[in-house]
Amino acid sequence: MTNDLRHHIDEAMTLAAAHLGQGRVADYIPALAKVDPDKLGFALALPDGTLHTSGDADEAFSIQSVSKIFTLALALRRVGSDLWTSVGREPSGSAFNSVVQLESEHGIPRNPLINAGAIATTDRLIDGRGGDAVAEEILNFMRARAGDDHVEIDFDVALSESETGARNRSLAHFMDAFDNLKHPVETVVGVYFRQCAIAMSCRQLARAGLFLAMEGRDPLTGEQIVEAHRARRINAIMMLCGHYDNSGEFAFRVGLPGKSGVGGGILCIAPGQGSIAVWSPGLNEAGTSLAGAVALEHFAYAAGWSVFD
Ligand code: GLN
Repeated sequence: MTNDLRHHIDEAMTLAAAHLGQGRVADYIPALAKVDPDKLGFALALPDGTLHTSGDADEAFSIQSVSKIFTLALALRRVGSDLWTSVGREPSGSAFNSVVQLESEHGIPRNPLINAGAIATTDRLIDGRGGDAVAEEILNFMRARAGDDHVEIDFDVALSESETGARNRSLAHFMDAFDNLKHPVETVVGVYFRQCAIAMSCRQLARAGLFLAMEGRDPLTGEQIVEAHRARRINAIMMLCGHYDNSGEFAFRVGLPGKSGVGGGILCIAPGQGSIAVWSPGLNEAGTSLAGAVALEHFAYAAGWSVFD
């Protein structure tokens, strides 16, 4: 079995490598534009702690929107179902930073994985505390889930994102205008920019996602991170909203819940089986790693992993 998985990873990586150079590196955040587009990494974490890695799996990259999964888990833990008064659970069918829908839907973002929804989720996670304390809580959570204290925030990326963050600030002000923000805009986006700027490797990220594959329980520490029903629901949201207006295509091709980030990372959850992180900075039009999605598609197909079994 393990040998088969190794073989599937090697094959998926060969097929994905043929697509390097086809995507575009995100350049709207200047610090991200410097990344080598030919990087390709893959890590598979299994519930027994085994990790299979390939390519650039140990190089840290900016997790960007993949962080939204973890802040969603933390916010659900902190405020529970009341989170759903601030944000919805429907796919958006529009770009990750779209403003249009927010106006017609009175400042309540469609789901927690588009930027507006993630900003609203971070606002709820703050829950009256200072921004620095919450950014630290998120970082410590990522370290604990990764089982690695070396996970850091890349402050150059956070600053770069803040300096070019007019769009995210607009989303936050818009929600504020509809009374859907409980803290000052700068406090909220200050935490949001830092969570997006967390740098992790595929190895660390795959390990960090294991609790979502195992009904909310981290199989290596034994901790129940979120209740089982919440883990299922986070996976449902990833499946339907994890890639913005490319979520249907990803579900069709990969058949597993996943979350992409414009740093080129994708976290993919195979419930009961394991957690996979891939990284390649060239993105498709929706901001999902092009070669990374190819690697996941081939691996999931070969391994027979799908939530539609
Ligand atoms: N930090 C990015 C932004 O807010 C996250 C977007 C993404 O990864 N899709 O624009």
